[in-house]
Amino acid sequence: MKKWTLIILILGWINQTLVQAQSDTSTVIILSINDLHAKINRFPQLKHVVDSIRSKHQTVWLFSAGDLFSGNPFVDKYEKPGQPMILLMNDIPFDLSAFGNHEFDYGIKTLNERVSEASFPFVCANIQTQNSGLKQPEPFKIFTSPDGTTFSVFSVLQIGQNKLPDSHPKNFEGVCFVEPNNAVAQHRKALKKTDIQIFVTHLGYRSDLEIAKQNQWVDVIIGGHTHKTIDPAEKVGQVWITQAGSDVQLLGVNTLKIHKHRLVSFQNQLIPLKMQARDSVMQDQVKAYSKRPEFQVEIAQITYPIDSQDEIGLMMAESYKEGLNADFAFQNLGGVRVDKIDEGLLKLFDIMFLDPFNNEILLFDLTQNEILGLLNYAYGLKHKEKQLMAGLKAEYILNNDQSLKDIRLSLPDGTALDPNKKYKVALNSYMTSSYQFDGKETAQYTSQFSNDLLVKYFKAHFPLKP
Ligand SMILES: [Zn+2]
Repeated sequence: MKKWTLIILILGWINQTLVQAQSDTSTVIILSINDLHAKINRFPQLKHVVDSIRSKHQTVWLFSAGDLFSGNPFVDKYEKPGQPMILLMNDIPFDLSAFGNHEFDYGIKTLNERVSEASFPFVCANIQTQNSGLKQPEPFKIFTSPDGTTFSVFSVLQIGQNKLPDSHPKNFEGVCFVEPNNAVAQHRKALKKTDIQIFVTHLGYRSDLEIAKQNQWVDVIIGGHTHKTIDPAEKVGQVWITQAGSDVQLLGVNTLKIHKHRLVSFQNQLIPLKMQARDSVMQDQVKAYSKRPEFQVEIAQITYPIDSQDEIGLMMAESYKEGLNADFAFQNLGGVRVDKIDEGLLKLFDIMFLDPFNNEILLFDLTQNEILGLLNYAYGLKHKEKQLMAGLKAEYILNNDQSLKDIRLSLPDGTALDPNKKYKVALNSYMTSSYQFDGKETAQYTSQFSNDLLVKYFKAHFPLKP
């Protein structure tokens, strides 16, 4: 054999090996979105982007990390609450969703109906539905790419100090939750039977970090619940962690390169959806949901811009105090979902937007000490939540590390409270069940809901005709 023939043969062999190695590497695109909160207004852009990515790649899966509902009255107050969201998700279509805590906001029966309407599976490993009527979801689903690589897609949902996810406790009747870590341990063996492990969690960023540290066999965690924008994706040891903000503002595009059934490279990009082109069919569908006449009822003429979340929260508290004739009323800042109300005509759907939870307001007979206990407990929660209050002034005195030293209460005119008196205090049902405080046993259910009390308040203070 001549020398040059040998060289050509060797070059040919090298080339063939390279081509083979390249064709041995396949690409799977996982699109991820979390905490959608019923923001269907951005679905036309989402549809457009998902379609265009699907047209360019063979294997594209779209996963949601939960909290589909609560945050858009056109979805939340629809005659079948949440249905527009599920039907539009079917049309995109999604391939899987985690359960978020807000999936329970409409109650078990409604959730069950929505889950049964979905063309994609819901997964959750730490829920035990028992006799609640909710269909038991599977802990994980297995997806297989065209080269035969298997992916387990697993989910767990956060639980709070009361062992329930963050929603009204009455929404979980008959349902139990296992500690997320225990659920991971329980399924570890089964999950490790697949080639790749994807966790689509609704735990929050810090818990995702912990899960990653303790479970280095996981490939990717697609997180939710804390509305965090992780850009670029973080790597904890061997585990990639992602989260894509909230409210359908960002879509995570996760590119997984697979070689010999192993993840050899991972890339995450967050695409802002606001400026994208819209799918016109979905645009018409979304418009139709918002045109329902019952949401257009005119409530009041707002004569000046109300431009802070605190001020709106104070008005909410004021509306409970006035409407229920209470001495004091509280509103948690987290329940105020907009940060301004524009000057001009206020319609029913504006009220539903700013207060999508529409909680029942309860009355309590509380002493000064019991009120202080409640405020201390709320401040000690992870958000260091100060309360917006009507009829009462509170001065929070903090240590250098922002921990709470003391709270001083007084009436609006500066006079001290009577330490022996029991005051009538109005609280929403979310705070009632989430906060621990003495005097809770005095609760009186009023059958008055925050949306209605707010409507009354705005009608009284901002009439339609000035
Ligand atoms: Zn959540």
